[in-house]
Amino acid sequence: MSITNSIKLFTEAQTLFPGGVNSPVRAFRAVGGQPLFIERGEGAYLFDVDGNRYIDYVLSWGPLVTGHAHPKVVAAIQQAATRGTSYGAPSPLELELAKSVMSFMPNIEMIRFVNSGTEATMSALRLARAYTKRDKIIKFDGCYHGHADLLLVQAGSGVATLGLPDSPGVPANTVKDTLVADFNNLDSVEALFKQYPDQIAAIIVEPVAGNMGVVPPLPGFLEGLRAITSRAGSVLIFDEVMTGFRVHFGGAQALYNIQPDLTTLGKVIGGGLPVGAYGGKREIMQMVAPSGPMYQAGTLAGNPLAMSAGIAALNLLREENCWEKLDQAAGRLEAGIASAASRAGIPIQQTRVGTMFTTFFSETKPVDWNTVKVADKILFGKFFQKMLENGVYLAPSQFESGFISTMHTNAIIDKTIAAAAEAFRTW
Ligand SMILES: *Cc1c(COP(=O)(O)O)cnc(C)c1O
Repeated sequence: MSITNSIKLFTEAQTLFPGGVNSPVRAFRAVGGQPLFIERGEGAYLFDVDGNRYIDYVLSWGPLVTGHAHPKVVAAIQQAATRGTSYGAPSPLELELAKSVMSFMPNIEMIRFVNSGTEATMSALRLARAYTKRDKIIKFDGCYHGHADLLLVQAGSGVATLGLPDSPGVPANTVKDTLVADFNNLDSVEALFKQYPDQIAAIIVEPVAGNMGVVPPLPGFLEGLRAITSRAGSVLIFDEVMTGFRVHFGGAQALYNIQPDLTTLGKVIGGGLPVGAYGGKREIMQMVAPSGPMYQAGTLAGNPLAMSAGIAALNLLREENCWEKLDQAAGRLEAGIASAASRAGIPIQQTRVGTMFTTFFSETKPVDWNTVKVADKILFGKFFQKMLENGVYLAPSQFESGFISTMHTNAIIDKTIAAAAEAFRTW
């Protein structure tokens, strides 16, 4: 496998972009080697600039649930483009995508479109603070909600109740109201509510954690968050930017039958173009300007190309048995990798919810960041490189989710399982 052209491009890219990339997770720093430069995507495949073909399980980090360049999504974008690429005024497409999203997530009564997941979570938290007239928020260690200042806190092994910024440039004052609890640990949440009575505006949670690798909620965890926030008059925000249309077509809220007050979306709802959204209870959403006083705006929000791509992608998901097929294919992959590892005597923890999965190289069951971070990054790097050599493109980090699309046929899944078996055989 030659990657001469990628090497050349990366050399130049490093003089143009910090680290040679426009988003840090793309840089392969956690697995060694260097990023591949992509020429095109088609269905379940990525093609790099050296003509190598890979089965893609990154899918642009989640959005491409109908695969690369689906003809119907492409046609929708092309048709929209001929009518102009942005109006800065309302268009009927916004209503269509809003109603489509709401048909999958009936708990959302009103919605506001933005351009990214980061904007969605940032805005939802501003709204929760405006609505409750409280300042403090709770997030969970290991959960990612975009790169807004107030959310760049993990706390790590430090005192869990004291939010310390994860990045220079985030003033300590900006995160002083960001409290951090442990995922799947209701006691850690109760303790914060006890410590800060009537001060907590919201809990924001990835209802299935995906940004530390896939960590499902333990039974009762999400129910507990719902009960605690209801009792305290705090807003429960499900950040379903990743899980929306991924763990279930109705998101984690449908899968676990929990009604959050607000939901944030992104990724899939843009059909591969930049879209985010936040929505939920009418009473709360009516606080948003110009209906209410909470200000939030966007020059390109509701962009007609992005709306068209999202509408087309969600329509494809309405096809008969679409979810059953996706879930079955993901289950086949999960079982195949787990059994290949077990035959080779390599201890892994294979997690999966719907179309999201992670192979943790660990003997510890992952339930939160503390049990996730013990996974062996070196072994994962080895697995990643071997899979790449065998034509399978995984996310270049132990702590990320893999995704499948409607284009991942059983034959493609079986090829992937064979690649994993080969990787473990030559371990
Ligand atoms: C990807 C992601 C975000 C951020 O979305 P961007 O579009 O990258 O800004 C926020 N929350 C979750 C759960 C995500 O997975």
